Amino acid sequence: MGVVDAALDGGFFVRWLTAAAGLVEREAERLTELDSAIGDADHGANMQRGFAAVVKAVDTEPPGTPGAVLVAAGRQLISTVGGASGPLYGTLLRRAGKSLGEAPEVSVAQLQAGLRAGVDSVRELGGAAPGDKTMVDALVPAVEALGDSLDAAAAAAEEGARATVPMLAKKGRASYLGERSIGHQDPGAASSALLFAALAEVAR
Ligand code: ADP
Ligand code: MG
Repeated sequence: MGVVDAALDGGFFVRWLTAAAGLVEREAERLTELDSAIGDADHGANMQRGFAAVVKAVDTEPPGTPGAVLVAAGRQLISTVGGASGPLYGTLLRRAGKSLGEAPEVSVAQLQAGLRAGVDSVRELGGAAPGDKTMVDALVPAVEALGDSLDAAAAAAEEGARATVPMLAKKGRASYLGERSIGHQDPGAASSALLFAALAEVAR
C-alpha cells in the first residue's frame, strides 16, 4: 500500500478523525448494546458525544500539524466524555500527538511510534494489560500491525476485539460481573477497531 511510504499531513489526521466520528455514529447502537451486556449501556453515546466534539475542534482552516490535531482531539475526549473511555482515548491521542511534535508531516512509522507511546500511557492510566478484556486488547495488536500496513492494523484491531469475547474482564465496569463478563465482546475494544478501520479507510 503506497500510503505506508507516504507522508501524512494534518489534513490526513483531520480526515481520519472525521471518518472515525462517522463510523462511531453509524455503529453507536452496537457499541451501546455491547456495553448494555457487560457495562452501563452508555459507550455508544459517550463515543458519539466525544467524537462530535473532536470533529468540531480539529476542523480548522488551515489544518493544524498532525501532532496538534491529535492533541486537540485528545483534549476534547477528556473534557467531553464522562465515562472511563474518554480519559483513556483522550490520553491515547494526546500522548501520540505530543510524541509527533510539531512536524508538518509524519511517516506511518512515526505514527506507529506515537501510538505505541499512547497505548503505553493508556495502560499506565487504566492499569489494564493485554488479556484483561479492554480496549488494550484491540489497541496493542493494531499498533504492532501498523508496521505492515494500515489495512493490517485495522484487521488486527478487529481480530483483537473479537478475541475479547471469551475473556474474563479484569478492569473497568465489566470486571464487577466476574464470570458473567465471559461470552461478550468488550465495547471499548469494539470502538478501538472502528478507529483503526477509519484510519485504513482514509488512506485508501
Ligand atoms: P464506562 O465504563 O465508564 O461506562 P464507557 O462505557 O464509555 O465508560 O467505556 C467502557 C470501555 O472502556 C470498556 O469496554 C473498556 O474497553 C474501557 N475501559 C474501562 N476501564 C478500563 C481500564 N482500566 N483500562 C483500559 N480500558 C478500560
Ligand atoms: Mg459504559
